[in-house]
Amino acid sequence: MNEIDGVGADLRSEEDFLKDLHRALKAHRQWMANQQYKINFPQLDSELEVGFESVRLFRSYLKAEYEPSVHQSTFFRKTLTQQAHLAQLAVQCREQAERGELKPADFAHLLRMDLRFDELVDQLRAEVTSAMLDLDELTGLYNRNAMERDLDEEMAMAHRGVAPFCLAMLDLDRFKQVNDQYGHPVGDEVLQQLAEFLQQRLRPYDRVYRYGGEEFLVLLPETSADRAFKVLDRVRCQLERVALQTEAGDLTVTFSAGLCGYFKGARLTDLIEKADQALYHAKSQGRNQVHLASSQA
Ligand code: GH3
Ligand code: MG
Ligand code: MG
Repeated sequence: MNEIDGVGADLRSEEDFLKDLHRALKAHRQWMANQQYKINFPQLDSELEVGFESVRLFRSYLKAEYEPSVHQSTFFRKTLTQQAHLAQLAVQCREQAERGELKPADFAHLLRMDLRFDELVDQLRAEVTSAMLDLDELTGLYNRNAMERDLDEEMAMAHRGVAPFCLAMLDLDRFKQVNDQYGHPVGDEVLQQLAEFLQQRLRPYDRVYRYGGEEFLVLLPETSADRAFKVLDRVRCQLERVALQTEAGDLTVTFSAGLCGYFKGARLTDLIEKADQALYHAKSQGRNQVHLASSQA
């Protein structure tokens, strides 16, 4: 049996990132306060009693590999760049002050850049916090909140004739038995590993949402029903051959899925209901299979 590549890779969460950012900012603020003190009193051979952390601490506190939503934030890169720029300006101002050459305009520029830095940090925090609200805590998948927003957009595009899509409801087979036999924490591990498996094995532009419990909704944009069926059935076949690693040892699970393609005049609730009915059919036919909703109207 195969193991899932990369499962358990140690990414720091959005929450961890916000903590790291807090520490990084504290170090940055102490360093900046000390620079400003020296700029104002260049003759004094003393430091401000604030810890005057190294300028490099800011970056080193943020060196970890975070969840993609952090690295994908444009404000993440901009904040790092702005901090480096700010550090350079502060040193220049301090050196000019030491030579008695600091011009008010240069000092004003430093202060403006410092305010700009604060703005970027606020935007970065807001973006990462909002990404956190879209995520399911256990699996790290998008939650229903994000699902509803994305599906509304997808429906609007399909109505305009831009791109039809498919959606699928997936439900683990006999999952209660996993909990009963190995305990709820092991069940949780299975859900986490399954989430990672689905994200790795579906196509990059497919999106997986935790619909609830051990049910997942998959959105397959710009995909015909036939194609979507092939994609899901391939993933289903792969899953039954994979060992999910848990505290209770390697476990194998399967899912059943109901699939429905967008059709003209459909409402979102119609599509979800049809996918649900198809899922029910897949269960009643023996599980571990994908079923395509039959009629499209
Ligand atoms: P089938 O779908 O094949 O008909 O059987 P099932 O045993 O999976 O049936 P059902 O949908 O009734 O049970 C789902 C179980 O999933 C019940 C619940 O204990 C478990 N479950 C739901 N959410 C979680 C979770 O977050 N963690 C764990 N460990 N278990 C969960
Ligand atoms: Mg269920
Ligand atoms: Mg189930």
